Amino acid sequence: MKKSPPAPPERRTDLLREIERLARVAIFGSASETYRTCGNPGCRCHGPGPKHGPHMYVTFRGDGKTAGYYVPADAQEDIRAGIEAWQALQVALRELAVINKERVLERARERKSTP
Ligand SMILES: [Zn+2]
Repeated sequence: MKKSPPAPPERRTDLLREIERLARVAIFGSASETYRTCGNPGCRCHGPGPKHGPHMYVTFRGDGKTAGYYVPADAQEDIRAGIEAWQALQVALRELAVINKERVLERARERKSTP
C-alpha cells in the first residue's frame, strides 16, 4: 500500500468547517419515486389509467426496521440536497478520522523521541 503524505493542518480546519456546514442540512435516508392510487374509487388510477406520481418517497433504517415518508413537492429539492449532504458528510468524516488518527500517532512518536 502506498503511503500518502500527511495532510496539511489547514486540511483539518477545512474539513471541520465543511462537516459543520453539511451537518446543518444533512438528512438521513434514500429517495425513490413511487406511483400511487388515490382515495377516489372513480378515478382513472383505479382503472386502466396511469397512477398518480411520481411521488418522492424517502426510506431510512432506524431501530432495526425500515421506515419511510412521502415528501411534499415543495420540500423535494431540500430533501434531496439534505440526502446528498449526508453522503458528503460520511466522506468528510472518514477523511477527518484518518487525519485524527495520524495526529494521535504522531504525538505518541514525538513523546517517545523526546523523553
Ligand atoms: Zn386517482
